[in-house]
Amino acid sequence: MFGRKFKLFKLLGFEVGLDPSWIIIAVLIAWSLSTGLFPFQYKNLSTQTYWLMGIVGALGLFFSIVAHEFTHSIVARIHGMPMKGITLFIFGGVAEMGDEPPSAKAEFQIAVVGPLSSLAIAVIFYAIHWLGMQTGWPQPVNGVVAYLAMINGLLTVFNLVPAFPLDGGRILRSILWSWKKNLRWATRISSSIGTGFGVFLIVLGVLRVLTGNFIGGMWFFLIGMFIQGAAKTSYQQLVTRKALEGEPLKRFMNTNPVTVPASTTVEQLVEDYVYRYHYKLFPVAEDHDKLLGCVTTKQIKEIPREAWRSKSVGDLAVRCSEENTIAPEADAVEALSAMRRNNAGRLMVVEKDKLVGIIALKDMLEFLSLKVELDN
Ligand SMILES: [Zn+2]
Repeated sequence: MFGRKFKLFKLLGFEVGLDPSWIIIAVLIAWSLSTGLFPFQYKNLSTQTYWLMGIVGALGLFFSIVAHEFTHSIVARIHGMPMKGITLFIFGGVAEMGDEPPSAKAEFQIAVVGPLSSLAIAVIFYAIHWLGMQTGWPQPVNGVVAYLAMINGLLTVFNLVPAFPLDGGRILRSILWSWKKNLRWATRISSSIGTGFGVFLIVLGVLRVLTGNFIGGMWFFLIGMFIQGAAKTSYQQLVTRKALEGEPLKRFMNTNPVTVPASTTVEQLVEDYVYRYHYKLFPVAEDHDKLLGCVTTKQIKEIPREAWRSKSVGDLAVRCSEENTIAPEADAVEALSAMRRNNAGRLMVVEKDKLVGIIALKDMLEFLSLKVELDN
């Protein structure tokens, strides 16, 4: 999920995108509306009419969710948070935040506008429905309007369940946060409720499947799995973040890293470095810390074996890229996200072509587990 998304449009600086999974859901919703709900509620309409109602209903739901996520994004931007955009995926929408909210008050406001906007949309559709009934609009129009009122009402209620990371869980977290001034504790409580609610939906889903309602049961099961997983990872992410935030790199930096002299042959590099230390990347340095470049196992593979003796590491070395270097003043959170982003296990700490040290993911994780253990 969130791998390849389709960009749809840009509004007020926010990019709205679709995860491919949402397209499947949109088709499923349109299908179940036009073959299930609408024919059940409104008899004697043509198949085309039911399908048209189903498609308009699914589109209406799409815009309702986008509007809901938009209000989150706008309030988050007012609070100075970097917002990446809005993506719709299988279980609804997410306003992608780049960071945790700066304060309990900000989190409360960001979270509460979502259900409020869904409620407002529901009320508007109920009013339109009422008007339509009074003035005798055609049944298909009234039917779609009634559906959109109902589904937005449902979205309001579902999002208000105090299970993190649902909006209700965020509201709960912000209240606990401002009460005890402890974000970690607040996250732990609200994400435990999130896990509990997820498990509850999973059990409900299994029961429904066992009693013969396969599709409905699968839905509960999948949504439960999603909420339960999201609750768990958001708590872990927060713990990691809080433990590593502001931690200087020197705490886990190896200040005496293995470097390769430029005169080493490729054969020696393989024998004495790659097979010995098992790293995929080595800094090429002179006088131990004057960084000349980087050499990777990928580059070695491109050299024919016959040339391993004649070619030197100096011929091979390229400028170390931004993907595998970091500045010494960066903190551990930045290092960890750079490693995640570039799928790198090690980063070279470089200051003006001088190799200050190397940090490894392994060492950071060890530090992290010690710190979390001592903090508890
Ligand atoms: Zn929301």
